[in-house]
Amino acid sequence: MYCPFCSVQETKVIDSRLVADGSQVRRRRECTLCKERFTTFEMAELVMPRIVKRDGSREPFNEDKLRAGLQRALEKRPVSTEQVEECVSRLKSSLRATGEREVSSESLGNLIMDALKELDKVAYVRFASVYRSFEDIREFGEEIARLGD
Ligand SMILES: [Zn+2]
Repeated sequence: MYCPFCSVQETKVIDSRLVADGSQVRRRRECTLCKERFTTFEMAELVMPRIVKRDGSREPFNEDKLRAGLQRALEKRPVSTEQVEECVSRLKSSLRATGEREVSSESLGNLIMDALKELDKVAYVRFASVYRSFEDIREFGEEIARLGD
């Protein structure tokens, strides 16, 4: 890749190691011309399926939305941010594991239910009770937020 300092095209990798539990490769590179060193991170680009909503419309999978929905469902529950993050990555893995290009919001809802069941029973029950009336994660989050009022 181009050197970010002098823009020459030739740079060489001088060190390469796995980071983030092996999900990323960190490379130290050195420019063959100016000798400056810099770091790059490489990770697999994984395509997430699109979400098909009940009305038939499609939308890209939105990780932030999923996270926000979970956080709202788990509001005031003894669940750490780290646990929520683990839950988000597990859900993403499950979605990718389907190998489908499109996944219904219903299937996504079921995945979330399974995940919440393991994570926090109260959040699971909350989720299950409003499940039928939500169309997407944002709506789910809003429902959950209302339950807390
Ligand atoms: Zn350079």
